[in-house]
Parts: sequence; C-alpha cells; structure tokens
Amino acid sequence: MFIQELVLKQRTEILNALCSSGSAEHLERVLDILLAQGELTWEDYQNIQVPGRALYTNARQLLDLVYTKGVDTCELFLTALKLVLPEEQGAGLSFSGCCSNLEKKEESQNTATQALLTDRPSLVSKLQGCIDGALEALVVSGHFTSGDCNEVRLPIYTPSQQARRLLDHVRSKGESAAKVVLHYIQQKQESGSSLNQEKRTLPKEFLKYQKKLVSSVSAQSCFLSTYGGTSHMSLDDIYTEGQLELAHDCADVHGPLGLEDIIGTVGTVNEEADTVLVSGEAGSGKSTLLQRLHLLWARGEALQDFMFLFPFSCRRLNSEHRELSVQELLFQHCCWPDREQEEIFQFILDHPNLILFTFDGLDELKQSFSDEDRLCCPTQRAPVHILLFNLIQGSLMKGVWKVVTSRPEAVRPLLRKHLRKEVLLNGFSPSGIGCFVRKHHRDHTVAAKVLESLQTNTALLGLCHNPVLCWIVSQCHKELLGCGEGSLQTITDVYLMILQHFLQHQSPLKSTMGLGWLQEHLKSVLHLGQLAFEGIGNTCYIFSCTELETCGVTEKDICMGFLIQSKDMSSAHSKRYEFLHVTMQCFFAALYIVLSSNIEYSTILKLFEPQDMRKTGLSSKCFGACLPSTDQQEKIVRREATGAETPNLQITATFVSGLLSQRHRSLWLHCCPSAMMEKKAKQVSRCLSKVMQKHFKSIPQPVAGEKKSMHAMPDFVWVIKCIYEMQESRVAKDAISKLEVDHLKLTYCNIGPVECTALAYVLQHLRNPVGLQLDNNSVGDVGVEQLLPCLHICNSLYLRNNNITDEGIRKLIAKGIQCDNFRKIALFNNKLTDACTRHFSHLLKIKQDFLSLRLGNNNITAEGAKQLAEGLKLNHSLQYLGLWGNKIGDAGAEALAGALENSKSLLWLSLVGNGVGSAGACALANIIKNSTSLEELWLTENCITRTGVECLIQALEHNTHVKSVWLRNNDLSLEEVEEMTQRESRFIF
Ligand code: ADP
Repeated sequence: MFIQELVLKQRTEILNALCSSGSAEHLERVLDILLAQGELTWEDYQNIQVPGRALYTNARQLLDLVYTKGVDTCELFLTALKLVLPEEQGAGLSFSGCCSNLEKKEESQNTATQALLTDRPSLVSKLQGCIDGALEALVVSGHFTSGDCNEVRLPIYTPSQQARRLLDHVRSKGESAAKVVLHYIQQKQESGSSLNQEKRTLPKEFLKYQKKLVSSVSAQSCFLSTYGGTSHMSLDDIYTEGQLELAHDCADVHGPLGLEDIIGTVGTVNEEADTVLVSGEAGSGKSTLLQRLHLLWARGEALQDFMFLFPFSCRRLNSEHRELSVQELLFQHCCWPDREQEEIFQFILDHPNLILFTFDGLDELKQSFSDEDRLCCPTQRAPVHILLFNLIQGSLMKGVWKVVTSRPEAVRPLLRKHLRKEVLLNGFSPSGIGCFVRKHHRDHTVAAKVLESLQTNTALLGLCHNPVLCWIVSQCHKELLGCGEGSLQTITDVYLMILQHFLQHQSPLKSTMGLGWLQEHLKSVLHLGQLAFEGIGNTCYIFSCTELETCGVTEKDICMGFLIQSKDMSSAHSKRYEFLHVTMQCFFAALYIVLSSNIEYSTILKLFEPQDMRKTGLSSKCFGACLPSTDQQEKIVRREATGAETPNLQITATFVSGLLSQRHRSLWLHCCPSAMMEKKAKQVSRCLSKVMQKHFKSIPQPVAGEKKSMHAMPDFVWVIKCIYEMQESRVAKDAISKLEVDHLKLTYCNIGPVECTALAYVLQHLRNPVGLQLDNNSVGDVGVEQLLPCLHICNSLYLRNNNITDEGIRKLIAKGIQCDNFRKIALFNNKLTDACTRHFSHLLKIKQDFLSLRLGNNNITAEGAKQLAEGLKLNHSLQYLGLWGNKIGDAGAEALAGALENSKSLLWLSLVGNGVGSAGACALANIIKNSTSLEELWLTENCITRTGVECLIQALEHNTHVKSVWLRNNDLSLEEVEEMTQRESRFIF
C-alpha cells in the first residue's frame, strides 16, 4: 500500500520529472522497461502512447494505470523511473523501498515476437544508429514496404523513437519479421560494428563546427534586446511562458501547447510538409519564443535531435542583396566553418533530419511568399527570398525542419499549403502577466504595486496580455504608479508613457513631468519619427548610419534608447540600428505624421484606406513622396513587390488616431500649430467613419425571413481599435450608429481582451440590439469583463471556445441580469465547472424573459445540474437548454427533469454525451409526459438501455408536441434499435 501512496502523493513531481523537459524520452524508456517486465500489456502500451496526444496526458494515463494495477506494478514503475531519470531530475523524488529486480524475464521468451518485448530496452539502444540497415533487411526480406520505412524514418522522431517505431511495426508484421530484425541486430553485434557508429565516427571538424554554431547561437540568444537601450536582461531571468495553441481544430488536442509541441507530432495537418508556422500579433512574443528555443538547443536542454540549428531573421535577410546558394546562406549568415566547408555542407545535405532552420518575422521580408520560382539545387545561387521560399516549401533541402514566425495578417493561403501545422501565440495568460511582472521586478513590493494597479484598471490589464505592452507597463512602473487611477486606457497611452520614461531617463535632473517634456525633445522625436516613417514606407526595419544621418538622427538621439544596435551576424563591420520593437517604429512614424508639418494631408487619407485598396500600390506613392528623391523610384518598385506592410500601416494608423485624440492635445500645444492638429484630427475621424460606412454598404441584404447579419471584414476590428484609441464618444457614435444589423459575426478574428475593450466602447453606441457572435477567439475572463459596457445592446452573446472560466461568468451574469435585451448565451467549449451554475441559476430566477442557455462541452457534473435545476424550477421563459458533453449523469438528469417536467416554454433540451442511463431517461420521460412545449430531446451518446427507452415510449404515447428524440449510440442492441424504431417513429437512432 505504501508504494502505491508514494506514486499518488508524488504525482505532480513525477509528471514534471517525466515531461518538463518537453522530450518524451524518459516516459518512453519507462514504458520500454514496464513492457519488457510484462507489467504492461501491449494494449496498455497503445492506450498510453496515443500518437499526437500531449506528453503530459500520456504520462498521466500511465500513472493512473500503474496505480490501479497495484503494489507490484507501482514498485516496478518507481524502480524504472529511478533508473531512467537523470540524477538531478530524480533528486526531489522519494523511491524508498523500491528495489524491484529488473533482470530480463527468461521464462516467457519462446518466440521472436516475445523477444521484441522482453529485450525492448536493449534493442532500442542497439538499433539507434543502424535503423537504415535494419529497414533494408526488412524490405529485402519482403516484410516492409517503402511506406513502412517512411513511417519509421519520419524526421520528427528521435533516433530512439525511430527504433521503437521500427520494433512496433515489426511486431505488427508477425513472427518472421521479428526474426529478421533480431538476426540483423545479432549479426551487427557479432561483426563488432558499433551500432552507434554514425555518431561516434563523426569527424572532429564537424563537431568543432557544431561547437562554434552552438556558442554563436547561445551568445545571440541569452539576452533580450528590448532592454538594450536601458539595461540588459537575461532571457533566463525574464522568460515567461506564452499561450500557445493550434490554429486549427484538432480532435485529440485540447488546451494549451508547450514549447516542445512546436516540433512535435501534435496537430500535424500535412505530413508531407516540414515547416511549422508560429503566428501571433506584433509584440506577442514570437521572436522571444524562437530565442528561447535557440537558447535551449544551444544549452542541450531541448531539440537535441537536431545537430545543427540555423537561426535567421527575415528582417536581416532583407539587407542581403547578393544572390546566394544555400551553402553560402548558412555559412555566411549563421556560422562559418573554419575548415572542410564542402564536407560539412555535404553532411548537412545527407542528414536533413538532423537540421533545423528558424526564420523569424516572415512578415518583415520585403517580398511576399510565392512558389513561382522553383529551385531544387542547393548549390545554385538565387536571391535570398527565393531560397527562403523554396526551403519553406521543401523543394530545397526536403526533410529539414523549419520553424517560421509571422503575424497572421501576412500569412496567405499559398503559404498555408506548405505548412505542417500552424501554432498561434496568444501572448501572456493572466497568470503569465503576474509571473512576468514578478520576474521583471525582483523587489516584491514594486511587483505587487504594479500588479495591484493593473487589477484596478482592467483595460490596461487587457493590454498586458501582449508581452511587449506588459514589458512597457512594467518598465514604466514609476509613471504607472504616479499617474491617476484608470488614466491609462489605450495602446497610445502606454507608448506615450514609455516615450516619457525614456526621455526622462535622458535628462533625469530636470523635471520632465510637466507638459514641457515633449517640447524639450521635439527635435529628437522628429528625427526618429522621420526615420521610422520612411522605414515603414519601405518595409525597412534596419538602418545604416547613412540613413540615420539623412534623417538627422544624432548620437544623442540614439542614446535615448529607442534604437538598438542590430545583431547582424553577417555584417559585423558596419553598425546598423533598429527600433526596440516594430511597434515602436510604428509609434514614431505616427508621431511624425502627427507632428510634422511636412506631411501632406493625403498621407492620412491613404493611411486609413482599407486593405483591399492598398494593394494598388497607392500607399507607396503617398509614403514615397516623403522619401529622399535619389533612390525614391527604386524604393517604390521594391515596395510594390511586397504585401507585408499592411499590418505596420494599420498599427501606425492606430497610433495616429490615438495621438490625435482630444485627450492628448495639451501635449502638442507648444510643439505644432493647433490648427494643423485640429485639421488632422478631423480628417482621421472622417476617414474612420468612411471606412465603417464602406463596411456597412458591403453587408448583403438578408434573405426574406432571415436576420440581417454582418460578418466582419478583415479591417473591421482594426477600425474599431482606431476609434477606441481616439477616446471620443462622438466619433464612435458617428461611425457605428448607422449600422443596422441583427447579428454581428466576429468568429476567428483574433479577438482578445484588448479587442473586447475597443468593441464594447464602440458597440455600446449601436441603436438597435444585436446578436454578438465571438466564437473561436481568445476573449478569456478579462475580455468578458471588457465586454460588459456593451452587454445592454446584445440580445444574444455567443462565446464558444474562448477560454472563459467560472470567474468570467460571475461578472458577466452580475451585469447580464440588469440588461433587458440580454436573452441568449452560448458558451460551448470553455472552462466552466459546477461553480458557474449558481450564477446561471440566479439569472434564470431573475430574468423571466431569458430564452437560451447553451453550456456544452464544459465540466459540469450532477452537482452543477442540481444547481441549475433550482433556477429552472422558477423560470418560465427558457426555450433552449444545451448541456452537450458534460458529466451530469443520472442524478443530474433527474434533477433537471424534476425542474422542467411542467415547463411550458422549453422547446429543446440536449443532454448528449452526459453519461445518462436508464434512470435518467425515465426521469426525463416525465418532461415528455407533462410538458406542453418540448419539441426535441437529444440523448445521443449516453448509456440508456431498453428500460429507459421503454419509459420514453410510454411517455410519448401521451404526447403529440415532441417531434424527435435522438438516441444514437446508447446501450442498445441492433435488434432493440430495430424494434424501438418500429414502435416509435419519433426516435432517431
Ligand atoms: P514579436 O516577435 O511577436 O513581435 P517579441 O518577441 O519581439 O514579439 O516580444 C516583444 C517584447 O516583449 C520582448 O522584447 C520582451 O520584452 C517581451 N516578451 C515577449 N515574449 C516574452 C516572453 N515569453 N517572456 C518575457 N518577455 C517577453
């Protein structure tokens, strides 16, 4: 018993020890041992090792199984764990009393297939290094096809995993295949050849090159560059996990992903492709995430199946104007081999599965992704973007893994075709914000104050989900704590705060808190602004000293900290600069547009043009007009080749809106003529209203009898954010009041808390109530809170799949009960538990006009159903109740039935997949018997037997309203289904 408890008590620690490295190796080795010892059956093993499932889930499954198997298995498990874990990882665990004998079990080894199991640990180790030979032997003997070989050789597998997959495959092929592989291994052993030959015989020069690459990657990745202007911050000290999730639905994967899942089988949509895309908004932490991966690789803590990792920044590749071969690209841009270049490159070509490329910021590349210029020869020279596109597609160096980052707007369908999978990076979670701030401020009191002040300003808290904004807010803690409560509302506010912070840093003795702080540094701001503005117009993010000089940027301006020296491996000789972050460049470009008198008014018009019109290249002319005339022509031509600038123009426009807000007018008072400001501000509000009208005009007229519905166009959320930045309710009202729709659909629009704040700000001015559909976004609890100001105008709120917890519901309902229009809510697939049902129950009691409550695919049990029943008893309006995919069981169904049996309003009830048995069905039959309104009852995927169905049949005899009762996948035989269908035509099986 004691040993079992030991497993149970240390569950969390064991899980972490097995999984926290991100590698499945420890778990798989433990499984090898348990299989060999006969503690796990083959079926057990397959139930644990489900392909594509998260590592932690597999490990949990193993722990559950081991525990239920009893003392002996637990003892063997702990012994195996002790053997497998490196000392430091096992150090915190107690293995006391575990001394199982792991000697090979001889007695059952009669067949070759059995030997594959009993010898599994040693076979796995012997096979690594001679997989190819073993596969060849299996093909020659006719046991394996080339398809089998490919499955084993998948580059995502580590050598040991390839060995295991080979053994698993052989097992499925039967005894003679097992004999072939055992014979092959024996022969190899006898011939004295080392099975790990490949590794051991790796020439010294290769190892030297690897070492050089490791140290250069490590040097590049250990500090975070945002801090370059002020202080250095090591990545280890500050790195905080961001929220990663698959961009597409995947049946087996629920919940967040870990770093290791980026290069894992999880969520693969295209087995043929070897490029993984990590997409996320500007500042969501894409570069930092790659930097983390690089560092972990260089330290030997992750991605150890890759011998060489080549990191690239697309921003830097922009300045490579020569044509290069892949070899030159790798060696000149990443790491130069001191000797044997040809041999090393040949090794790279021969071992694509050992190589990883990362390309940061594909959206910053001057050229948009295209697959027109095909290239397959690695020695052929081509412009760098062509090399890159061919690498991504896999026409060059097929089999090499690539991780690419980009903002989602810049990812075109053409690129998606070549992706193995897409992973979304959604910035920090609410707990991540806390974790980051505490890491940033070692002084606990400062951290606590910053967090406290964020809690009182949820709009700002929402902004902090974006790591770059979280960094600014945390960095400017003095300004944050010094300014009035709630005065920081918009992204522009946050960037103005860092502007003030850095300027203050520049002249710490002078009091810059007054309004004069900007005026004092106006020249510098304009210099940097011009540089930023021209850069945005030219897709240029790295600047040479000459470019700095052209815009008048001086050494003193650089020292302010907004520009940092670019870490360019290829041009160590000439200094180059970039803005701390691309959003900072957009902010300075916006400052320039707002403050400079050289800006033509047409620039603003073009800036607010919707995306589809920009493609004509008009904006290049508007920005181009301000460029130095000498190379203007060439720059415009270059610009027309790209489509990636839109996100930056849109961010710049957002800042322009914010800077022209009435709230900030006093800042510019002595910096530029008020009349000019006034004119620009008017122009912006006119533009915003115009873009909005254009959207409204595009809404199709509804089909007769249907509601008028608007599906947001790509620019809609951006315009809403611009309006929010202005913080002028008149502008919001002007822009939105003409929208006349019944339903506003914003599904899959990357709506997070920040977007919710802006949406609520604008939508509250709608004239008529709407259904607001926000399914499949990342609203979260903070976002829900942000939506409250517009809840009164929502008659239905759809928030399916949005990471909402009971806490978010508490706040939503508290407000919802006061909103007359609010009648329907859909919360399918969130993180709700029984704790939320109390609030719904309250809502049902209070609101006697509430119509629809859908809570499918959450975690509600019988207890929750009982709570809901309390509200349902007193409610006389609810028509739709959906609890699909919860766990209410018989007890829950009975409670609901008790509450609803006399309902005169309920039309539709779904308890699909809730573990409801016949007792529950018999109780539900009472609703059919007594209710005068019910039309549809969904009981698919439960465990109802004949007894339950008989009750339903009896009840239906007295009922003519019910149209259908869905009973698919219950505990009924085919004959029973046949019989029941005959007896009751309203049953659907
Ligand atoms: P992106 O590449 O998506 O634009 P970055 O990776 O450049 O975003 O992040 C911007 C800044 O935000 C970083 O310089 C850093 O200050 C902060 N940051 C981003 N991600 C993290 C993280 N995971 N941990 C700590 N800080 C982060």
